[in-house]
Formats: sequence, structure tokens, C-alpha cells
Amino acid sequence: MQFPQDMARLGSAARAIPCLGVLVILCITVLARDGAAQQARTSRSRAAPVEDLADVPPDLAGIHKCADAVVGFHMRDRWPVGTTSMTVDDGPSAVATARLLDLFKQYRIKATFFVIGARINRHSYQAIQRILREGHALGNHTYHHQYGTRGLPRLRDSVDYWKRELMATQILVDIALMARNGDDFDALYLHVLGVPTPRKVSTAWLHGHWDEIEARWRATLAERNGPVAPSMHWMRPPGGVPCLPVGTRFQVRSYVGALWELGMTQVLWNCGAHDATPQFPASLRRNPEWLRGNIVQCARRGGILVIHDYINLAGLRGALETLAGSGNIRFITLDQMMTLKYEPELEPDRELAGPRVGDATERVSPL
Ligand SMILES: [Zn+2]
Repeated sequence: MQFPQDMARLGSAARAIPCLGVLVILCITVLARDGAAQQARTSRSRAAPVEDLADVPPDLAGIHKCADAVVGFHMRDRWPVGTTSMTVDDGPSAVATARLLDLFKQYRIKATFFVIGARINRHSYQAIQRILREGHALGNHTYHHQYGTRGLPRLRDSVDYWKRELMATQILVDIALMARNGDDFDALYLHVLGVPTPRKVSTAWLHGHWDEIEARWRATLAERNGPVAPSMHWMRPPGGVPCLPVGTRFQVRSYVGALWELGMTQVLWNCGAHDATPQFPASLRRNPEWLRGNIVQCARRGGILVIHDYINLAGLRGALETLAGSGNIRFITLDQMMTLKYEPELEPDRELAGPRVGDATERVSPL
């Protein structure tokens, strides 16, 4: 597979779903279901290379909810019982991500890691390499993990804000995949972003220096003849904002515009371990038995499960062990979940379905 180096082609079909036949059917189905504004956006993100399609932006003025215009997963979707997709937010980190990957390997689960650009550094960059090497997917969780677009007075500025938050994370992933060692990561970071590590790039810096940053990024990709980074077409907004009721119309419109321009697919969730839900006390969020119960309940219900990079590992391990014993729960990828949502008659194709958790054969040493 050829990996594009151009953000403008972020959502091309070759990366989204490997099977061209499924892809075409899926695209036709999506187009048929959703209105004209979404048609253009969907085509742009899934059907064919961007340059082959008419450039028809969505009518942002008419958009009030993400569900009106964003392709992907929303909380009110219908979810498949007993079929779950594992998603991990807020990484990467040097130690915790590695432990999660060990556990997923043990239980043969392919997850999607929604990474925060600002957390990719000389200590955590190898986690990005390992996520892809072991067959998991990368999703984009923005660079700063800020909720919304406060202080941006114009829609265009706000669209650009989201785009740069997303593209900056893609840049960090590219740097992580190019880096040969920690010093090389730091050198690439300084060269492309213009600031030394470990300094985090501010929103103001990104906006004030964007053209130079983007030019240096593209030049570096060309010089290094790579990298091998798949563009991250999955996107999850921090905290679900602006696609939850807390989002303002202004935020929704700017978000929709940015996703359309980048050809990205939104991924919310319908169930979680509650390892980071502020309504629960910290002691409960770390309680292995409570976490185990939450995860098991989510997996039995089916849908998209969210956990966080720093989840208590004993709770997660306990849940996977319980599910492995139950024998009828399976974890699938987000690509497969897209097929279930838009083309459910293709199920149950065992080629498409992931192994049941109980099919685990590969055991690794206790963590
Ligand atoms: Zn998050």
C-alpha cells in the first residue's frame, strides 16, 4: 500500500477500508442516505481521490448538529449487540501504552488509539511505531486536547483552528515514524516545528507560523523519502465536544467544515470504562473491580468502547479475562464497525469478523 504524504488526501478510500468492493457499496449507501451537503463531503472522504471530485463544501450555515453533517459514529447510533470496537484515548505514553499493547496482543484485540499530538515526544514516539507495527489503527485526538474554539471570532478562523489542531498531530505522528532514536526525534521536532523539545507548541505559535511549519514538514517528508505514516482519517474531538449537546452551533459548524476539508471521519462512543469520567470519584475510577464491571457491560451491549491510556490495567485485564470466558463477545476494528453501520447485510462474514476474545492463543508474560 502506498501511504500518502499529503494531508489534503487524508481521507482517501485506500486507507479507510482495504476492500474496494466493500468501499464502493459503502459509499453508495452513505450517499443515498444522507442529503446533498453530506453527499459532497462523503464523496470527498471516501469515494475517490480528492482531486477527481467537485469541490462542493457543506452549507455550514444550515448545520446545527454534527449528526446532520458528519460521517461516522454518533452516540445515538444503533449498535450491534455483543460486537465491540476498542478505542483508547489520550495517549501515547512511554510505559502505559506499551502495557496496553501487550494486553491487546495477549487477547488478540485490534484497537484504535486516539492520540494527542502534544503527548508524542522522545519518550513516547516508539509507542506510535509499535501501534502500527502490531496492526492497530491510529486516530487523531487533536494536538492540544482543548474543548472547542473559544476566543475565535470568525468561522474561517475556527475552521483553521480545528484543521491545524488535527494536522499538527499528523505531523507529530510522521516525526515519530521517521525518528531513528530519541535525539533524532528532537532534531526533527526542532526543524519542523521551530521550537525545541520538550516545549509544547502553543495555539498562537501554530497559527502564527503555520505556513513555514507545513512547508518544512513536506520538505522533511520528501528528504526522508517517507515516512510510512498512514494518514489518520479517524477523528475524535476531545470530550466529544462539539458533537455532544454542550457544543455551540459555532463550534459545530467550524468542526464540520474542518472535517470536511480534511476528509475525516468522526468517532464518538456509546459506552466507556468511566476511567476518566469526572462525575465519579478518583478512587472509583481506579478501582479494578468497578472498571472490570463497566467494560464487561459495554462489551456485552456492543458498540464503541472508550478507555484511556492510563486505565488501571488490572481492571482491563480482569474484564478481558471475563469476556474470554464468556465465548460470545468479539472485538472488531472501526473499519468493520463502519461496514456494520452502513452495510449490515455484509455481516456475518467471518472473514470480516474479528476473532472472539476467547479465541486468544497467544499468551505473553504477566505485566
Ligand atoms: Zn481525550
